[in-house]
Amino acid sequence: MSPRALVTRGDGALGPERREPLCAQPGELVVKPVTVGLCGTDLELIDGTIDPAYVRYPLVIGHEWTGVVTASGDAVVRAGDRVVVEGIVPCRRCAHCAAGATHLCDTYAELGFTFDGAAADEVLVRADLAHVLAPQVTSDDAALVEPASVVYHGLSRIVGRPGLECVVVGDGTIGLLAAQMLRLWSPARVVVAGRRPGQRELARRAGADELVLDGTPRGAFDLVVEAAGTASAVADALAAARRGGSVLLLGLPPHGSTTPVPVDDLVNGDLLIRASFGYSSSAWASVVALVNAARLHPGVLVTHRFGFDEHDAAITALRTPPDEGPRGKVVLELP
Ligand SMILES: [Zn+2]
Ligand SMILES: [Zn+2]
Repeated sequence: MSPRALVTRGDGALGPERREPLCAQPGELVVKPVTVGLCGTDLELIDGTIDPAYVRYPLVIGHEWTGVVTASGDAVVRAGDRVVVEGIVPCRRCAHCAAGATHLCDTYAELGFTFDGAAADEVLVRADLAHVLAPQVTSDDAALVEPASVVYHGLSRIVGRPGLECVVVGDGTIGLLAAQMLRLWSPARVVVAGRRPGQRELARRAGADELVLDGTPRGAFDLVVEAAGTASAVADALAAARRGGSVLLLGLPPHGSTTPVPVDDLVNGDLLIRASFGYSSSAWASVVALVNAARLHPGVLVTHRFGFDEHDAAITALRTPPDEGPRGKVVLELP
């Protein structure tokens, strides 16, 4: 049987289609995905609400994933290797790439956005972007390397020292990953400002000291991470920093969102505001090193698992957080 893939045309629908089998040319790998995480960005891709500059349809979704190499046109990564693969595909020739800012490459190309992603029986990738996993790394931990790299990339550009009072705005997967990864910088305290009591146990598992549900505390934090992805959360995040504090904007509000900002407070507050897009090759490699060394376990955030044929149920679980209980990462498991 020809390989299956979950395809969207940005019209609100996602469905299985049959594809031609893939083969690996020199410098390429064919990988069989094992675990594929889904996120809010996949919903935007399915619904067609994402900035059209960052997508090409028809599209196989799946940008958070891990798998096993089935065919290799490379001398280093071999068939049978378990891998994670950088989704942002840099040209390695432009000025940004030369400076190490591969996430800003002049030619934007990304697996699961402008190239077919991993929600499929097989996926074709560039071999130089594949990272081999240590044997003990779980597929859950590996599947979360992509969102963890987004968080690591942002944090590594803004966290200057240990002992910081930190707050994360947003109790979704990116927020909880931020709480978990802030621990790498030995913070004094990590508070998550969320909306759902069902996330409390998951926030604790991620390493947060506290989940607050009655609004983001104002003016109290050295470091604020905005991970809710709404315009009002950005305003809350800016108001949460104490004077001299830093604000990292990781959430991606809907295309075209705006919010009023008390500009004098930003200046009087001497704030550092850092927005961060995607991840560099270097951030990805750092996260793989942490996961391979068992220093980071982002897979603790997986709460919902579905098979390939249960994709409708998976998308429903992603769209509608449960009334009770936690909702962390939703994954497809592809046997
Ligand atoms: Zn994602
Ligand atoms: Zn480039």
